[in-house]
Amino acid sequence: MKNFLKFLISHSKSYGFIFPSNEIYGGINAIYDYGQYGIELKNNIKEFWWKSMTQLNENIVGIDSSILTHSNVLKSSGHIDEFKELLVYNKNSKKKYQVHLLIENHIKKFFKNDNEQINKILIRLNEYFKKKDTLNIINLINELNIHDPISGNKKDKIWTNIHFMNMMFEIKNSKNLFLRPETAQGIFCNFINVQKSSRMKIPFGIAQIGKSFRNEIIARQFLFRLREFEQMEMQFFINPKEEKKWYKYWKNIRLKWHNSLNLGKNKYRLIDHKNLAHYASLGVDIEFNYPFGFRELEGIHSRRDFDLKKHELFTNKKFIINNNKKVKYTPYVIETSLGLDRLFMAILSSSLKEEKLDNGKKRTILKIPPCLSPVKAAILPLVKKDGIPDIANKIFHNEKINHNIIYDYKDSIGKLYRRQDAIGTPLCFTVDYKTIENNTVTIRYRDNMNQERIHINEISNKIELETGLKNILKKLLNN
Ligand code: ATP
Repeated sequence: MKNFLKFLISHSKSYGFIFPSNEIYGGINAIYDYGQYGIELKNNIKEFWWKSMTQLNENIVGIDSSILTHSNVLKSSGHIDEFKELLVYNKNSKKKYQVHLLIENHIKKFFKNDNEQINKILIRLNEYFKKKDTLNIINLINELNIHDPISGNKKDKIWTNIHFMNMMFEIKNSKNLFLRPETAQGIFCNFINVQKSSRMKIPFGIAQIGKSFRNEIIARQFLFRLREFEQMEMQFFINPKEEKKWYKYWKNIRLKWHNSLNLGKNKYRLIDHKNLAHYASLGVDIEFNYPFGFRELEGIHSRRDFDLKKHELFTNKKFIINNNKKVKYTPYVIETSLGLDRLFMAILSSSLKEEKLDNGKKRTILKIPPCLSPVKAAILPLVKKDGIPDIANKIFHNEKINHNIIYDYKDSIGKLYRRQDAIGTPLCFTVDYKTIENNTVTIRYRDNMNQERIHINEISNKIELETGLKNILKKLLNN
């Protein structure tokens, strides 16, 4: 479909998934609000991730650390000195760009699948970055003949004012406080607290879901690059000798987890990091095929003992593990770091379809994995008379304690089905005249529109069977 991204953004707004933040005051760049169905989908994704991490692994526990972070923590972790982006200014269009994204996006578009060429340029770029060699970076931009990608005007190619900018938000009137740029530091700071209070032994993990903030400059890809976003991170503490083993283990587990959602195996690819973050020794991205191509969805890194050692140095606290009294070490860390908003967008963009019906009309449908759907089922009356709405309403009230369901009567049945398709409700139960006779309802499936009749006593089990999170968790456990 032409301009699928526009269609996705407009559908998300019309059906209560995503709204531009502060819209009535003109909106804020790269900040979005989640609407009534968006928040349900987001909460379901969180629950799936949280349970897969903490409930299925007896050696992983969760925490929720503060967003406001002391500058000493971020000084030790290297964020104050290293968490910088190189920016460049386009003199013609007067727009600023993050250099690595400008170049990466350009070469991916220009060289398409020629990975050899792409890697060659990335290696060169990384070398320049390491040396902070801005002169050669500008030369590279000119050599690649990059023009402003947003204006699209081929004449807009005068690049100037190249400089580094820290990506963190500092709280202005509050001395020493920053909005955290990643959730991980809260986990490192609580390493001893968690280990002691839970009597955990290496290897063990700490998981966290929470907001992070980065002052992103290029932010024009909907939920992909936000200034306020949520991360689902897990730091797994290990014996340094087992770094490669656990790195490989978590790489496999995370890919399996993504595949369990059935968004399509060809939607993912693994890309080893060429340009490692300041704390990492090994790194791989799980990339997803978004409407604008493959981009990072989740990162898996070995952070070694970088963070714990730094915090030891600055605080004089010891993070040393003394498992059997003989072998002492500061644990290494394998981290899995997933962007919740990026996963939300991956699910939404791969689920949104337009299908042609036999009667020539179209239906717009969100084929969200049923266990994550915002609404699990709708109870609908076929007509608005003869006591039929009352029966539907009664079924709804009996069932709402078990599942997140909807009762709707405000349109004709055809329109009610279309609306549920558009918000991704996997099942509709329709009450009609036969219900009065024999207590059965019609069940209509979202994906193939097949219909069958079931007894009203079976509704609850049917919803659980078709949409329950337990089924997918069980599969993960047995895999
Ligand atoms: P990118 O290279 O795309 O900027 P990153 O390598 O800086 O991402 P990490 O620091 O590894 O990202 O963060 C872990 C995860 O957090 C990413 O895989 C991504 O899913 C998510 N994330 C990072 N920055 C953003 C952002 N600005 N908006 C939304 N999600 C983000």
